[in-house]
Amino acid sequence: MQYLIAANWKMHGLAAQLVEIEAVAAAVTATRPKADTLICVPATLISRAVQTASGRIPIGGEDCGAEDAGAFTGDTSAGMLKDAGASAVIVGHSERRHYQRETDAAVAAKASAAWRAGLMAIICIGETDAQRRNGAAISTCGDQIAGSVPETLADPGILAIAYEPLWAIGTGHMPAANEIVEMHAHIRQCLTTRFGQAAGKHIRILYGGSVKPANAREILALPNVGGALVGGASLHAADFNAIIRAAE
Ligand code: PEP
Repeated sequence: MQYLIAANWKMHGLAAQLVEIEAVAAAVTATRPKADTLICVPATLISRAVQTASGRIPIGGEDCGAEDAGAFTGDTSAGMLKDAGASAVIVGHSERRHYQRETDAAVAAKASAAWRAGLMAIICIGETDAQRRNGAAISTCGDQIAGSVPETLADPGILAIAYEPLWAIGTGHMPAANEIVEMHAHIRQCLTTRFGQAAGKHIRILYGGSVKPANAREILALPNVGGALVGGASLHAADFNAIIRAAE
């Protein structure tokens, strides 16, 4: 399985930042890394990002509606993201679970919508600081997988799970290596139990939360880590390119 190094630009990205996409695309073309790459940007930037990338790197969205179309003012459907040129979408990011109060069921519905539209879905899970301190990290993430991952999976390639401890996102704090190993092994077990060995072992499990050029190599070397979801460090091509190189 190739690593997937995915960027999450969050609510950042105006036309002026397309130069960062050009710089990543140029580096990927020049160095032909072994890792798959993906840059997820705000919906408003997708078609211009796709034009800038011009087939050199795939572009994704950061959220999608659960329905295919309808009276949902302000929402963007998975089909619209696909139509704009996206090939993947992040669903259930902790910021959406927190600020928009998205439930596991809503996240599962969004992942299903992504698949109906032909997008790969990156489903985010992760525990709070208090849940980890109370010894509930494993059960919290297990419950999120049970509730947020749709029941049927056509192909392991259309799903990635991003384990993102909430307390590690944008904070510079990281779980210890053994904590990442333990969680990713548990996620793997949940996936093989749900989808069977053959499919479950081919689903990529990304780590996300304060991944930087300085720690990426160490994280990516851990068992069951199939890539990274990168927030802050993905906004600057130099840092994101260094993380892509760490996957070599
Ligand atoms: C994220 O928001 O998905 C993320 C991992 O952010 P950061 O890398 O900035 O911690």
